[in-house]
Amino acid sequence: MTRLWNDPARFRDDMTAGFIAAHADQVVGVPGGIVRASRDAEPAVAVVVGGGSGHYPAFAGLVGPGLAHGAVMGNIFASPSAAQVESVALAAEDGRGVLLAYGNYAGDVLNFDLAQANLRSRGLDVRTVAVTDDICSAPVGAEHLRRGIAGDLAVFKIAGAAAAEGRALDAVEELAARANRRTRTVGVAFGGCTLPGADAPLFEVPEGRMAVGMGIHGEPGLEELPVPSARGLAELLVERILAERPSGPAAAENRVVPLLNGLGGIGDEELYVVYARVAELLDEEGIVAVDPQVGQLCTSFDMPGVSLSLLWLDEDLERLWSAPANAPAFRTGAPAPTRDRGEATVQGPASVAGSPDSSDPSAVIAALEAVRRVVLENADLLGRLDSVAGDGDHGIGMSRGATAAADAAHTSAARGLGAAATLHDAADAWSDAAGGTSGALWSLMLHRLADALAGGRPDAARIADAVASACDAVTAAGGAVPGDKTMVDALVPFTTVLVETVAAGADGSSAWTTAARTATDGAKATADMVPRRGRSRTHGERAVGTPDPGAVSFALIVTAVGDAFADTTSYSDVPQRDAKGART
Ligand code: ADP
Ligand code: MG
Repeated sequence: MTRLWNDPARFRDDMTAGFIAAHADQVVGVPGGIVRASRDAEPAVAVVVGGGSGHYPAFAGLVGPGLAHGAVMGNIFASPSAAQVESVALAAEDGRGVLLAYGNYAGDVLNFDLAQANLRSRGLDVRTVAVTDDICSAPVGAEHLRRGIAGDLAVFKIAGAAAAEGRALDAVEELAARANRRTRTVGVAFGGCTLPGADAPLFEVPEGRMAVGMGIHGEPGLEELPVPSARGLAELLVERILAERPSGPAAAENRVVPLLNGLGGIGDEELYVVYARVAELLDEEGIVAVDPQVGQLCTSFDMPGVSLSLLWLDEDLERLWSAPANAPAFRTGAPAPTRDRGEATVQGPASVAGSPDSSDPSAVIAALEAVRRVVLENADLLGRLDSVAGDGDHGIGMSRGATAAADAAHTSAARGLGAAATLHDAADAWSDAAGGTSGALWSLMLHRLADALAGGRPDAARIADAVASACDAVTAAGGAVPGDKTMVDALVPFTTVLVETVAAGADGSSAWTTAARTATDGAKATADMVPRRGRSRTHGERAVGTPDPGAVSFALIVTAVGDAFADTTSYSDVPQRDAKGART
């Protein structure tokens, strides 16, 4: 159980406040996360890491000289928004470019990529390395689809040390990518984790069993075995990880950094019992363990689980791994000299609000209130849909986003902003509060709709154009096409029918209603599809029979906004949770 919190919805903020208070000599808070309190003695490439909260010491604990320059801190298990990434990157950058490094999850990829594009358009040189160390999450040959877990530390440490050596962005990127290619992780879980305020674990593993390859957000494992002894677990982890040694000349050097990681619910002493056998096994294989790390390196709240990572060294990687670092949760060698941050280095991202307008924002507020209402009413359903093959947070994320958007719209309207600026502000608030894949996509859509409002009250044709532009933005950012089992399966038919019906001369309201019905049909039809995008992709077959949560929420929202028919949609075939919270 996670037992201590104030308001579960503010857990990330309260945790961040405590972290900053405890490490005020080392870090400062900026919108979206933290950066180092001081700068490198000489300007360096800024290494910006990040992801959802709930994984401490990833990500905030790894900010400090010799390691990361900043950490973007999303909500619990939800990727940060693009604006949050931009904010932290701008505060961290020191004139030599930015490397973004994070675990390879759909929501993070989407938001960090959007941020990278925005930062580049401001003239910054920005590169990305998405960590893919979890060998259980995709087979050899599909490494780019693998998730990032405890191997984050290996990649971040190498990147941070390369930046501290004064390397240029090209080299920092190359070394981080090399470290990622040479880092492998295998993990097991004996049980689920309970999020703050939740009365049941997010997922469960049967008593006496362990899930091999379970993800750090409860993404299902690949196999279930009886819980072995500590020695037996060491043998299983080492055997699986050695089955996939990286190839290349340096592999012959046989030197590795082992990371034996507890996922939050396993104590260090238990880990050392496991490590004793890991050390023997590596030795028997003729592999030299360099500077082993045993402890909580990348957690999943209170999840009882263990992972073993090996970073296969070469000369560069060994020098960089051994270089000094001084972050709240990772310290090695003597601290390097630093220089003052100076004033005015902490800046927020550029406002993306449209040009000022005087049009009445009340229709925007009414629409956003309808969105908030329908999302809150259906939050539980959306969460259950997402727990079938995703991570169960779609209801929470959509609720956070829709609530923040409606609240922001009231605030902006009260400040006297017009319809377009109000909707732009709401769009920003949505992604900042929600994070995740859907947060980024809804924010993009609302921004496109807001653009259409800039020239005064729009007619049906302009709204249809704006929806088409929102649809383009979503497919461009996420790369999904109809049939992939995503919100696109509701969005594309909605758009097509809206555009066609308006072009045929229908009035806006009846065209919207017709289109919303198509969206509902599209959402229902996703039940038969196998997901090919997003978080659900890894365990696609489990999702057959259940509609896609993002498509369902889209259909519910456009239906509510159209305010045309009562919500008679039934999703009664969705799995329920039993008393213990397990999926049935
Ligand atoms: P996360 O996947 O980050 O946990 P959510 O659970 O809030 O985010 O949203 C999941 C939904 O996002 C999916 O049901 C799907 O509709 C949508 N989605 C995921 N990936 C894509 C994509 N590439 N393009 C469009 N929609 C996507
Ligand atoms: Mg989700």
